[in-house]
Amino acid sequence: MFLHEKTYDIDELARHNLHIHTRFSGCAKPEMKARDIVLTAEKAGLEMIAMTDHNYIDRQNAVAQQRYDILREIADMDTKVKVYVGAELSAYGIGKFADDIACDKSLDYRLYTTNHFHLKYWEHPENKTPRGYVEHMLAIIDGVIESGRVDCFAHPFMSGYIHAFDDFKDVTRAYTDNDLGDIMAKANSREIAWEINLPAVRKDPDFHRRYFNIGREVGVTFNMGTDAHLLCNVDPKQFAEELKKALY
Ligand SMILES: [Zn+2]
Ligand SMILES: [Zn+2]
Repeated sequence: MFLHEKTYDIDELARHNLHIHTRFSGCAKPEMKARDIVLTAEKAGLEMIAMTDHNYIDRQNAVAQQRYDILREIADMDTKVKVYVGAELSAYGIGKFADDIACDKSLDYRLYTTNHFHLKYWEHPENKTPRGYVEHMLAIIDGVIESGRVDCFAHPFMSGYIHAFDDFKDVTRAYTDNDLGDIMAKANSREIAWEINLPAVRKDPDFHRRYFNIGREVGVTFNMGTDAHLLCNVDPKQFAEELKKALY
């Protein structure tokens, strides 16, 4: 499901932050309490936020319970910010998911990661070349699209967690424009969005310029996410100029 109208205006996209970790994610700071995230978003004048905690394979379906805890924490808040409580879910192999579909359906927003290759249980391709990783990642993404359980892909195509090469960007260079255009068009026809993920853009700006331009040509919906683990990263507007420089 798309959460907003499509736009390629970074200033407009930066009024949303659809990738924020709360303290329920082990990697986020204790200051990331749901109430304080909402207050920070309100102060920044954001229109829409999504809390997207990790769900790992050893905590299967935990995000469904966490959603209730977060909703309870913010229940009495009177805010103009539209708040979605979702998760950053894991497709750790082709057709392999860390959560059952009932858990996913209970969430307001399903942001799927397909490339956390630094985790022990993540499946790597047999063919450990850049092109092998590309085909493996495309197959994982395709499996997620076919599953019907996704609203947006988190830092898609990104290879920063693959440690098999001297330069991880060898992998993103091995995607053809057709690889990217075809899968983005397929997801788009099913109302699945693609993330502009701030840390991923910073790590590999050349790839993300290509990704952004192909996405625009295809007519996809991009969702903005800073992948915030700290309150100071909740407002994407402060990064808008940096993103424009990288993507345009
Ligand atoms: Zn991630
Ligand atoms: Zn994240």
